Amino acid sequence: MYIVQIASEIAPVAKVGGLADVMMGLSRELKWKGHQVDIFVPKYDCLDTRYLQFTPKKKTKSYFQGTWHDNTIVTSKLNGDLLLTFIDAHHPARFFERGAIYGSIDDIDRFLYFSRACLDYLKSEGTPPNVIHIHDWETAIIALLVKDPYFEDFFSKTKVVLTIHNMDYQGRCSVFNLDAIGLPGAQYKELLQHTDTQDVNLLKAGIIFADAVATVSPTYAQEVLKPEGGKGLQDVLNKYRKKFFGILNGLDYSYWNPEVDRFMVQKYSSDTVDFRSLKEKNKWHLLDEFKLQKSKNKPLIAAIARLVPQKGIELLKNTLTYAQEKGAQYILLGTAPDPAVHKEFSELAERYASHPDIRIILRSEEALAHRLYAASDIFIVPSIFEPCGLTQLIAMKYGSIPVVRATGGLKDTVFDVDMIEHGNGFTFDSPDIKGLHSALDRAVKMYKEKVEKWQKLMVQAMKYDYSWNKPADQYLDIYQ
Ligand code: ADP
Repeated sequence: MYIVQIASEIAPVAKVGGLADVMMGLSRELKWKGHQVDIFVPKYDCLDTRYLQFTPKKKTKSYFQGTWHDNTIVTSKLNGDLLLTFIDAHHPARFFERGAIYGSIDDIDRFLYFSRACLDYLKSEGTPPNVIHIHDWETAIIALLVKDPYFEDFFSKTKVVLTIHNMDYQGRCSVFNLDAIGLPGAQYKELLQHTDTQDVNLLKAGIIFADAVATVSPTYAQEVLKPEGGKGLQDVLNKYRKKFFGILNGLDYSYWNPEVDRFMVQKYSSDTVDFRSLKEKNKWHLLDEFKLQKSKNKPLIAAIARLVPQKGIELLKNTLTYAQEKGAQYILLGTAPDPAVHKEFSELAERYASHPDIRIILRSEEALAHRLYAASDIFIVPSIFEPCGLTQLIAMKYGSIPVVRATGGLKDTVFDVDMIEHGNGFTFDSPDIKGLHSALDRAVKMYKEKVEKWQKLMVQAMKYDYSWNKPADQYLDIYQ
């Protein structure tokens, strides 16, 4: 099958969150299963070019606001096997030269431009894909664009699959934005408006016009059918329920794996008896790096997250005092897109800058994330809601025991060891301090007092299979 993946992120070169990991992991698995996979992303000026070797391929034109604009198509191999295709836009607004992937005032225009440019390029190449797989609001309009008279003949045999990674981000705009990419916006006004406003909603367009729609875990797929989870799109999702699926995200174990991880100080495998002491070398090294005290009996709690309300900001903060009171250590690695939250955490980071047990690190650093998964003993994910969540899956693979709020994909992947024999972590239901402590207390106690039980739990967590093998088959079933 010829599959084209189109999204705003791809790990590790253009990554903000889990979408980037999914793009890389799913694409590689599909490739390993024998399919042709092309990945389209914008050629941002902030790409991490260390992993790339660009080859300019050709010039192509794309339509925007009544004019045809030049783009250069640039390709690069990633990890030796994946082919990335970058759209380098020459539009005077320099859409992808903003120093960041998101956060520009014209994000809607930037990603509408990108969506249209991908289709213009595909059409100019002359080989229609069997499947175009689009992700989130940034590329959702492609589901409608392929049905526009300008494209419909060329893409008549192409199916479009949309994956929704987070209902919090829907792409609200006006009919004029649709006009810009050659769609008759007014014609879709009623159909695409958000329930309570006159805005056009790009994610809604994707839901209505895609041939199939998926979201990233079975539990989240249930949650979004209700108002609290659906955030205004629950009715349209219910209406198109027959083509709506919940498919759990996987992990690329050739990238997230303590046996082969190139960023780690000491590799380890749950198959060797001494794995715990090998894992500990990573901990001592990281504690040294951040000038934290080395102590045998203190579990190192970690969190790696975008600091947005979804992730349970108050609970992530509360863990600062919790760790001090309970004889634990805590490292938080995160970034806050909201300047007020960033300021608050910067002040906390400063306050704890020379604390023996606590560090707050406010930056995005892929290599450090790998080292922190490897070094930590306990990994907290106290989310208010969580479509899938990848950090708990990565943590498990590295033998860092997840303590999570049982919601969305966290509920589908973390099973409380006090409730089932082959558990892989600790869970709590209510997203408040009492709830978090009810699970963290049990984790810290087991770590400190039940050494053998803890080791058994680590092995169980590390052996759970959350690879892309099964989810990729589920996507292939949908593609078929
Ligand atoms: P989301 O997509 O909502 O951000 P996920 O759990 O699905 O959450 O994916 C988060 C991904 O982003 C993981 O790969 C995680 O390691 C990574 N990540 C989050 N924050 C940082 C950071 N500050 N530095 C490095 N990696 C980060």
